[in-house]
Amino acid sequence: LYVDHPLSEGQTIPLDRDQSHYLFGVMRQSVGAHVALINGRDGEYIAQVAEAGKRAGSLVCLRQTKPLQMPPDLWLLFAPIKKARTDFIVEKATEMGAARIVPVQTEYTNSERIRQDRLQAHAVEAAEQCGGTFVPEVAELHRLDRLLADWDPERQIMFCDEGLVGAAQHLSATGGGEWAILIGPEGGFSPTERTRLHALPYAHAVSLGPRILRADTAAVAALTVWQQALGD
Ligand code: SAM
Repeated sequence: LYVDHPLSEGQTIPLDRDQSHYLFGVMRQSVGAHVALINGRDGEYIAQVAEAGKRAGSLVCLRQTKPLQMPPDLWLLFAPIKKARTDFIVEKATEMGAARIVPVQTEYTNSERIRQDRLQAHAVEAAEQCGGTFVPEVAELHRLDRLLADWDPERQIMFCDEGLVGAAQHLSATGGGEWAILIGPEGGFSPTERTRLHALPYAHAVSLGPRILRADTAAVAALTVWQQALGD
């Protein structure tokens, strides 16, 4: 269970209405039951139900069962697409160990708004599902041109360029450090964006193979390629 509360031995964790409904109504847990807790910051703790009400309850943290497992410092920048496919990208990026997820508005991006809270909730669910103790932050929507204007050159970019489709251009960089993967929208990157990205010394243009992948497939493929080349 995810709670937005510090976790440490002996700590009492209050449960709100939704959490109590889920734990006691849906999962049928009662006083004395053991529950695994994460908050995305303190690792995993095993806790015991102290009070189990319909609208409220509480748990007491017993001990830590997993330390916080920080992923590599990898961001995923992607242009939001249709709702269900954007949800998919956030879910898969969390499972694949992205440390931060940044929706970006490019020239050809159709969605101008995202529900950051919904996407963050998807990241929480995905972390719970895969037994992760870290939850990546889902940032608000940033404009790509502004993001690049303030970019820290220490953070290298794996720029997935559909214009290189079929080229044998794979990620050849070495060393970990700070990274970001960049995936474009359904319509790809504009010529201006491609020219700009190709000129950046810290951006590495890569091909993801001989076919144009859908943006959601491209995100998963790119995360896999990066993890294979530079992950731990
Ligand atoms: N029309 C499809 C869709 O609806 O999703 C294709 C989208 S593709 C243009 C979206 C993004 O995926 C591209 O901007 C690029 O970042 C990445 N991508 C897809 N195939 C790729 C490839 N073969 N090599 C590199 N990047 C690729």
